[in-house]
Amino acid sequence: MWQEYENWLWIWKLRIPEKIKTLIWLCLHEALPTNVFRFNRGVVSSMLCSRCNLYPETVLHCLRDCPMARPIWDYMQFPTSDMVHSADIKTWISSGVHLDELVFCATLWWIWRDRNNSIFNPDEKWSPLKVKALSLSLAKELNLFNHMQPATVPMSLLVDWSPPNGSIVKINCDASVHKEGHVAGFGCVIRNSTKCWIKGCFGTLPTCSVLRGELFAIWRGLFLAWECGYRDVCCETDCLDAFLAAQLHFNPNHAADTDLIVKIQDILLWNWNAKMVLIQRTTNKTAVYLAKYALESSMKYVELLEPLSNMRSVLWDSHCSSSIES
Ligand SMILES: [Zn+2]
Repeated sequence: MWQEYENWLWIWKLRIPEKIKTLIWLCLHEALPTNVFRFNRGVVSSMLCSRCNLYPETVLHCLRDCPMARPIWDYMQFPTSDMVHSADIKTWISSGVHLDELVFCATLWWIWRDRNNSIFNPDEKWSPLKVKALSLSLAKELNLFNHMQPATVPMSLLVDWSPPNGSIVKINCDASVHKEGHVAGFGCVIRNSTKCWIKGCFGTLPTCSVLRGELFAIWRGLFLAWECGYRDVCCETDCLDAFLAAQLHFNPNHAADTDLIVKIQDILLWNWNAKMVLIQRTTNKTAVYLAKYALESSMKYVELLEPLSNMRSVLWDSHCSSSIES
């Protein structure tokens, strides 16, 4: 669940693709699946960098200090004084972004891709010059794209819930866990572009973590929308771990929840247009309410054709009032 509101907001304001924002977010939270990260979770037996075999593969080593990464920054002509000597990932990334947002982010992206390519595709390694060319070309593409697009506030930064566009329906989901017990409550709500409640559900799950509850809520919400016949959906969660698990194919952190992660990745690939969006918790009030209500009621599973009668204030807050005003 979101805890560090102040730290990530600036990343989401960058005018770069979501996948690069996610990469930067992972770097800043030391959550990039480097060998050190994986070693600490017992996934691999050595924390050494697989490329140079000289140093532990921390995020900074992987993206900046490895002898395989350093020449690329030199080729990109990034001033190295601040960047190389800073021992702190946050300082390094923010100074790089400050110097040249697009070139820095594009290079970061391609160095990470290069690292993965050299591990998963060792017979076809890329030269530093190739990575330089890919980074420059991506930066140029982003620059062009940004010039064509008016600057807008990314949807993920909106504090209030906002309805989807056109025929898309939006699913919001959440989970809640009792401190003492391990029972989880989950809640999902589907709404359309006119802010109307289409369907909701809530229920409880036996003994599980918050993450598992969140994953279940995502899967249940997506499945409910599919069952209702919608084929253009956007599913919002405020749980970063669940969001990343659903997005990334590689996830050493949550081996216990692989079954649900696979189910979500699978349903996202069904014959429909389904995407996941990460939002702030304050934007997710209706689902948060349903998940808490589920815990209190202890009911196993309930589907709601309209909002619960006591939800008026929550729905007002989240700009969804049309169906209960009448
Ligand atoms: Zn290395």
